Amino acid sequence: MDGYAVCWRDMPGPWRIIGESAAGQPFTGTLGAGQAVRISTGALVPDGADAILVQEDCQRDGDQLALSGGGPASQGAHIRRKGHDFSSDAVLAEAGTRIDARLIALAAMAGHGTLCVQRPVRVAILSTGDELVQPGETLPTLAHIPASNGVMLAAMLSGLPVELQLPQMLPDRLDAIGAALTHHRSADIIVTTGGASVGDHDLVQPALREQGGKVDFWRIAMRPGKPVMVATLGDAIVLGLPGNPVSAYVTALLLLLPLVRKLAGIGDVFPSACDGIAGAHFPANGARQDFMRARFADGALVPVDNQDSGALRGLLAADALLIRAPYQEAKRPGDTVHYIPLNDGA
Ligand code: AMP
Ligand code: MG
Repeated sequence: MDGYAVCWRDMPGPWRIIGESAAGQPFTGTLGAGQAVRISTGALVPDGADAILVQEDCQRDGDQLALSGGGPASQGAHIRRKGHDFSSDAVLAEAGTRIDARLIALAAMAGHGTLCVQRPVRVAILSTGDELVQPGETLPTLAHIPASNGVMLAAMLSGLPVELQLPQMLPDRLDAIGAALTHHRSADIIVTTGGASVGDHDLVQPALREQGGKVDFWRIAMRPGKPVMVATLGDAIVLGLPGNPVSAYVTALLLLLPLVRKLAGIGDVFPSACDGIAGAHFPANGARQDFMRARFADGALVPVDNQDSGALRGLLAADALLIRAPYQEAKRPGDTVHYIPLNDGA
């Protein structure tokens, strides 16, 4: 505080002013009995002083100082002690902590001019399909559709420490897909969408094998998302996601984002599941874990109307993915259900 540094013992004064301590320009002497030093906010408290008289409480006449108000409530009032914020041996952030503005400020205050950080995760997105047209472009024929997966995945990754290779569109041709995969073999993750099933034009796996990639596993007992493939090529983990937009979204949420978080060293990799209340009848489930698009109606979860894996409007209407475990029994309104909320940016 702006005022005078004094010794608590000498209260209630009067004092003789012997110098000044300003911010960045400390008083170099030591306070003796009955002495005061003019002080300003941010200045070092002089040796020998242990109390601050705020300016409003004092009357000064030349080098004479007298108390005109109440004076400090306690000895150390208005003094920040050394280590009041953190001690020199404190761990201020664990490894893996995301650096934000507050941590940057704290690190700077702790004397760090540079921080050791992990580089962003390099992700390449490849959309396959002869029917795909860049979003916004006129569709040449009725057989074409806009390529929505690339921009959707890019948006899902935008909140994470990712260096993104712009979403690229590829025709259903072995040579084109193979060349693109090889081109990105030094990425951390190559995400493909489409071409992941068993059709004649599902070429991601054949192209990958042709380039020397190794498939770790293919197909997961989940709905949507059954055709997911996980492979390696060069330095890259290849995550083959389904082409259907809702399937691509759900598998990216449950598999791609956790993988990125893991590689980025971020602690909690999986989206957390919550307990909710069924607001409708849900039939017994089959062999695949189901992630049903659901919305809240009067506080309880009901399925959105269109559960088609190509129905992006149904996905947008959803507040949650309702989780139905394999062979889970039917649920009645009022029963407890588990769900993953869809409101955290992804
Ligand atoms: P696929 O996995 O290639 O058999 O594709 C499954 C469905 O997803 C098809 O109806 C495709 O037209 C559609 N699809 C594939 N890729 C995309 C994409 N990038 N954006 C939107 N829809 C897609
Ligand atoms: Mg396709």
